[in-house]
Amino acid sequence: MLGWSINLFRVFGIQLAVHASFLLLLACYGYEGWKEGGLAGLGWNVGLIVLFFVCVVLHELGHSLTAKRYGVRVPRILLLPIGGMAQFDRIPRKPSQELLITAAGPAVNFLLVALLLPLSWRGLINNEDVPRYSWAATLDQLWYANLVMGVFNLLPVFPMDGGRILRALLALQLPYLRATWWAALVSKVLAPVFACIAFFVLDWPMVGVLFLFILFVGDAEYKQTLRLEQEDQHWRERACRTVEASTRDDEPRPPLIIQGPN
Ligand SMILES: [Zn+2]
Repeated sequence: MLGWSINLFRVFGIQLAVHASFLLLLACYGYEGWKEGGLAGLGWNVGLIVLFFVCVVLHELGHSLTAKRYGVRVPRILLLPIGGMAQFDRIPRKPSQELLITAAGPAVNFLLVALLLPLSWRGLINNEDVPRYSWAATLDQLWYANLVMGVFNLLPVFPMDGGRILRALLALQLPYLRATWWAALVSKVLAPVFACIAFFVLDWPMVGVLFLFILFVGDAEYKQTLRLEQEDQHWRERACRTVEASTRDDEPRPPLIIQGPN
């Protein structure tokens, strides 16, 4: 499914790609805009979605550029209708590194919130009415979008950013696998609760589906971590046995007694 993507361009050496279903999202929002306000509505809705996803790319670049500092290869950032996904060749086992890489994404959103605030104060603070399809309304929407994106990603649901931050904090005290197990358990409890809130309280079905999806992804990542840990353990034990065997080879051997014919 993730193969159905279109490569756009490279940014800081990272391929930016967009999933084919993203075009469907643009078409849906464009149509909604056109129904509400004709051509102006269509243009505004499509433009807003594009700007919103520019913020998503900046969020993913926050993760990616921090990861690159620690020698992690980032081949691609993929944009999906539910958000972005930076693909790493590995996740650092050092909790402090995972903590910084993960926190860098929401930090970009909060930085954008701070930068956009002076530009969108009219609508937000003074509660002034701004024209529907205006630059001021766009800035207001982007301010809200970044605030929601930053807070939403910090929910402690593994493997979302908040869940990874929780795992990294736990891994400062616990073994990595145990920390992952706890983070996945917290996620199993909270993800269905957040899904219910999204479906029945907020009426955000897309977000509800996202939480249910996260529930399975979190479990899959715990199982993958478990498998990697077992493989590491297996190779460590083999390496130990090899070292022991070669040490025994180095030990002085008793003289070989050759029994000759008596
Ligand atoms: Zn993130």
